[in-house]
Amino acid sequence: MSFLENLTIKKFHQGLIGREFSAVEVAKDFFSHIKEKDDKINAYLTFTKDMALETAIAVDAELDAGGNIGILAGTPLAIKDNILIENVVCMAASKILENYKSSYDATVVKRLKKAEAVFLGKTNMDEFAMGSSTENSAFKKTRNPYDIERVPGGSSGGSAAAVAVDMAIGALGSDTGGSIRQPANFCGVVGLKPTYGAVSRFGLIAMASSLDQIGPIAKTVEDAAIIFTEISGRDEFDSTSIDIDYKEDVLNPDFESTKNLKIGLPKEYFIDGIDKYISSAIGEVIQSLKSMGFEFREISLPHTKHALSCYYIIMTAEVSANLARFDGIRYSRLQNLISSASRRMTDEIQNLKNIYFKQRSDGFGEEAKRRIILGNFVLSSGYYDAYYSKAQKVRRLIKQDFNEAFKEVDIILTPVSPTPAFKIGEKIDDPLSMYLSDIFTIPVNLAGLPAISIPVKKTNGLPVGFQLIGKPFREADILGVGRYYEKNVNII
Ligand code: GLN
Repeated sequence: MSFLENLTIKKFHQGLIGREFSAVEVAKDFFSHIKEKDDKINAYLTFTKDMALETAIAVDAELDAGGNIGILAGTPLAIKDNILIENVVCMAASKILENYKSSYDATVVKRLKKAEAVFLGKTNMDEFAMGSSTENSAFKKTRNPYDIERVPGGSSGGSAAAVAVDMAIGALGSDTGGSIRQPANFCGVVGLKPTYGAVSRFGLIAMASSLDQIGPIAKTVEDAAIIFTEISGRDEFDSTSIDIDYKEDVLNPDFESTKNLKIGLPKEYFIDGIDKYISSAIGEVIQSLKSMGFEFREISLPHTKHALSCYYIIMTAEVSANLARFDGIRYSRLQNLISSASRRMTDEIQNLKNIYFKQRSDGFGEEAKRRIILGNFVLSSGYYDAYYSKAQKVRRLIKQDFNEAFKEVDIILTPVSPTPAFKIGEKIDDPLSMYLSDIFTIPVNLAGLPAISIPVKKTNGLPVGFQLIGKPFREADILGVGRYYEKNVNII
């Protein structure tokens, strides 16, 4: 099909430096394509056209002057709506932040600006990244480009859908329990959740700070690697970020040594209850990798069955603390309301407690409220030991399972989600079944490991991905195997 469909970061870069097209032309192409498509898909919440064109003009001017440009210069990217871009509206898809304008850049954004990437806009998501379908957005429902009756996954559903339907070359998402990998899996694109500490969280609206990581969503593993190397590394504004230079390892993998990596299959992940469509797709991937020479071994992660409950205690505890700052006074909502206030509203804001009550009741959606309440419960005196501190111990056991497994293998391969993309509305009234869609992704966040979702070679049906989990800070391993797979099954 079209020019945009085949455009990866690498191809775009080559075309740009070969002067086949200008950065401005391509940025404009993207905006017209978005105009045509996004009415149906609803991937974007906000556009940053002026900023995009300004950067594209600067990149073209550098090329005109005979200068060298970096690999991401001029590349059109989409940014999830919980990542701050200075002076751009950032709402985390929540009414409580409606029209809030960021006063500074997230570190990842600062780094992408330095690389002269072109930002097309902010993408839709589940409110404060809580969800697996993007249906929890306060503003719109994003649709799966492969079947618009289905969800794109979540919470980074807007970013995944945008990349899948060529409304951006790549995107940033965030992943607390699967929010990059699961939507990538549902939309047939690549999503990388880096090791905890690999990418700065400064300027990411926090959901659960011990689990959150920002990462790339892209069309190919190679593109994900390119974005990842630009955004990773130590940042003085995030004390959990680590000083590590990935470039050589990640960008130029040595495929000969990649082929020697041993791959583990955790028996707890290959259970009844997984959709047949998924198990046969995963079986196909294992066969392909075996025929490429990879060695497989069965491993065990015995505490997997406790991961979901452990996550829903730790995550909600952290959510309730992180969301306490949204009091309806800071971040501009009150000002919006005052200016349009009725008399009744003016009376209500006489009393501080009323302000909090009113603002938080109106401003947060149902899922956010559910989690704040759960989080306060597990942290409350009398229950703290029974739930929160117990969950922390279980988290340690889950981490130890991975440590043990990684003594035997270098990488772990699993499904990403037990089913392909489900129908819009199918799970929204059943939070437990919604929570279950992250059963294979959540343990990775609890253990702080890197993991990637890679599409099984494209079929005519709904997309399916597989997950590769790596040792801490060994993104190079999962990206290397992913690239090897991608090269040999000709995904692009
Ligand atoms: N779907 C999971 C949740 O609802 C994970 C969300 C995320 O990774 N941000 O918590």
